Amino acid sequence: MDTRNTVASIITIGDELLIGQTVDTNSAWMAQELNAIGVWVHRRVSVGDDRDAIWQALDEESKHARVILITGGLGPTADDITKPLLCQYFGGRMVVDEGALANVRHIFQMLNRPLIERNLKQAEVPDVCTVIQNRRGTAPGMWFEKEGVVFVSMPGVPHEMKGMMKGYVIPALQDRFRPAPILHRTLLTAGIGESFLAERIKEFESTLPRNIKLAYLPSYGMVKLRLTGRGDDPRMEAELQAEFDMLRQLVEDVLVTDEDKGIPQVVGEILSSRGQTLSTIESCTGGYIGHLITSVPGSSRYYLGGAVAYSNTLKMALAGVRPDTLSAHGAVSRETVLEMANGIRDRTGSDFAIATSGIMGPDGGTPDKPVGTVWVGLAAAGREAASHFQFRFDRQRNTELAATHGLNALRKFILV
Ligand code: AMP
Ligand code: MG
Repeated sequence: MDTRNTVASIITIGDELLIGQTVDTNSAWMAQELNAIGVWVHRRVSVGDDRDAIWQALDEESKHARVILITGGLGPTADDITKPLLCQYFGGRMVVDEGALANVRHIFQMLNRPLIERNLKQAEVPDVCTVIQNRRGTAPGMWFEKEGVVFVSMPGVPHEMKGMMKGYVIPALQDRFRPAPILHRTLLTAGIGESFLAERIKEFESTLPRNIKLAYLPSYGMVKLRLTGRGDDPRMEAELQAEFDMLRQLVEDVLVTDEDKGIPQVVGEILSSRGQTLSTIESCTGGYIGHLITSVPGSSRYYLGGAVAYSNTLKMALAGVRPDTLSAHGAVSRETVLEMANGIRDRTGSDFAIATSGIMGPDGGTPDKPVGTVWVGLAAAGREAASHFQFRFDRQRNTELAATHGLNALRKFILV
């Protein structure tokens, strides 16, 4: 890309990453933090606890990047080799860092555990680095510079790495490189497939200026569109906003939100702004909708709670679903989800209620109600609605889809 953004690479180290035992969440988090200050991540590389592999990755990434962030391999055990390797790579020798030593002593004192030689080693660092103190653990971070490239080594433990990034690395990188901004504008659409969206906005896409890129991010039946503007031209922000306004108009009818938010947050904000409340009664989603709603901070303002009514017995006991309804229409039906939603709304006194019932698979399907059949019931004062969905995936995806489509149906129902 023809911009003046500072370029970074991220190297994550650990055999556990290569065998898939630990998912590399560090590099995703670090990439977001770097993007937010205008540092463009050009590559994320994972290597094992292997001397040659780490060495080669350092050589290779320093050809392309001015900032290289490294995590992992700093533990006190023999499999963690990053620190001595970096010492050799930058031509230093190991010395005890007094600050790191005091930190290790302090942590062991707090834990009331004896210190052994192995732990004291944690306080040793190459004499050619700037030490980054670790307030959340024993392994210090290390900042090296070689031929204009900054290398920062941090522990693999996500919580410790995040503390160092926020407390030291990000501010220090801003000071050192004064990176040009990278700005993102994101909107969320529902009810239109990725390829149909692409057709609809192809003219728009083809006329975007070179410093603004469009990305499609589909997930669980919704598509996020993100415009990213890069470069240090002061007009870029206004230009990005103008393009974003145009994009928003093109998708007005399928727009869920023009901010970078998920549907639980959008529903929460609508309820909150109106001073209204919600309750849930979930069968096939097993409480997942309640979990998504309560994942949003401040959800106690509008979410009263709900029930997981998996069995017919509990559908009757907790929501007053009539035995006749269940025997005539079955648990997975319009009639049942409407009685569930109305029942939980009456019992909790909420303004709105949502109910789910479906067949998530892999078994339990019938010719009339195949796996993936989901009914969502919605209730408000004097008003009700039900939506039928037919998903066609595995249990986990069907559950995700039922929850997001259910919440989107609820959003539209509230806004009517
Ligand atoms: P280490 O610094 O190599 O001793 O890593 C300590 C722990 O941090 C490992 O056992 C992993 O559970 C975790 N970890 C290491 N690298 C990553 C990563 N890239 N993403 C998430 N967790 C990680
Ligand atoms: Mg390790």
